[in-house]
Amino acid sequence: MAMLGLYTPFSRLNAVLNNKVVVVGAGIVGTCIAYELSNLGIKTVLIDKNIPGSGTSGASFNWINATYPKKPYSYNYLAQLSLNEFKDIEIDLNYPIDWYGSLEWTNSIADQNKILYEVKNLMKYPTFSKHKIINHIEANKLEPKFINFNNNNHIVYSEDDGYLNTKEFIKVLIDKIKFNGSKVIEECSYHKINYINNKISSVSTSKGEIITDQIVFACGIDTNKIFNKKLIKSPEPGIIIKSKPYKKIINRIIYGPGIHLYQQRDGKIIIGEQGILDIDDKNKLKNYPKHFISKSMEEKYINKIIKTGKLFLKEIESIPIDEVKIGWRPIPLDEKPIVGRLPHNENIYIATMHSGITLGPIIGKYVAKEISQNIEIQLLNEFRPSRLI
Ligand SMILES: Cc1cc2nc3c(=O)[nH]c(=O)nc-3n(C[C@H](O)[C@H](O)[C@H](O)COP(=O)(O)OP(=O)(O)OC[C@H]3O[C@@H](n4cnc5c(N)ncnc54)[C@H](O)[C@@H]3O)c2cc1C
Repeated sequence: MAMLGLYTPFSRLNAVLNNKVVVVGAGIVGTCIAYELSNLGIKTVLIDKNIPGSGTSGASFNWINATYPKKPYSYNYLAQLSLNEFKDIEIDLNYPIDWYGSLEWTNSIADQNKILYEVKNLMKYPTFSKHKIINHIEANKLEPKFINFNNNNHIVYSEDDGYLNTKEFIKVLIDKIKFNGSKVIEECSYHKINYINNKISSVSTSKGEIITDQIVFACGIDTNKIFNKKLIKSPEPGIIIKSKPYKKIINRIIYGPGIHLYQQRDGKIIIGEQGILDIDDKNKLKNYPKHFISKSMEEKYINKIIKTGKLFLKEIESIPIDEVKIGWRPIPLDEKPIVGRLPHNENIYIATMHSGITLGPIIGKYVAKEISQNIEIQLLNEFRPSRLI
């Protein structure tokens, strides 16, 4: 009760709000959903227990792609649709996204053959995002100065890929949500759903009660806690390094052996890694911290990343590091998105997935459609929560 004194009391909140949909979780997924609902004129309240974008979405590599690892094809197709959806949002928000494509290669012949096989397989389908296999000479025309492709002749060039400054993008979406007349409440934790005559009447939050009859949960790694059920695996960590602004050294997303990186418009370089965390260290990060728990552990992994990166980008040693984060991946039990109404209550909706940066826009569009028109979009049938609940 002491905490409530700091905030708007329940009764006032009820009077001011009176909404149709409450979206819990202002990561990329929940924010895209609230944006699309508010664009349809549906009164929406987006709440987050922290600051919008401070969950996994704020510690992601932010690569937008519909490339070969996205399987089965239905999942890949959803990603393709999301790439298109981004183009509409770019216009609506006047927020240009960097679509420079990606270059991927590996040093191991076995991995390389696997990639080529999977790219070929994807290309058998009626639609796929643009992929080309190029050699190191062609690749060095795209990245002329700094990247050593090590004479590789099988580099996957995915021309349609882009990257996003997700935190900035979430802010822009939120401005539009507010412009549309909907509400965004930060530092507001969801507590419970209230019912009258078996119908949802409101949700209780740390900032009071919000009247609503529909709730969307887009809570990322908190999904299991919210539903008191194991719907996602134990979150997997990934290290993200952000540099200070640096001279222009790369044009595209470079997915090299062991690490991947790109350079933002502001000159900052974003670096991710491919599973370098030791199991012992992973165990020490049990509470899902957003940063390493000691300076020495952080330095160990910076050194590992630089050592790996140096094999194809000598310049990596000179890049001035600004921040090192740990992101936690929300991966559903069968690795496919979980999107839809709960089987036992159609007014409770869930949207949890990995690759949420890529999928956010199409998920936002489809969830808003399903809720506003009370329909079921067939394309989502494979991803319904009923398969896990
Ligand atoms: C290292 C790393 C690299 C990645 N790279 C990529 C990539 O390149 N491309 C890609 O597409 N995807 C990538 N991903 C995956 C992607 O980042 C996630 O799928 C996506 O960010 C999930 O978004 P979300 O909105 O579901 O979750 P989040 O961003 O975590 O948002 C959930 C929100 O819910 C809030 N919340 C939770 N519980 C409550 C509560 N009780 N009350 C109120 N609010 C609550 C949290 O505070 C949080 O802000 C990567 C992930 C990691 C970790």
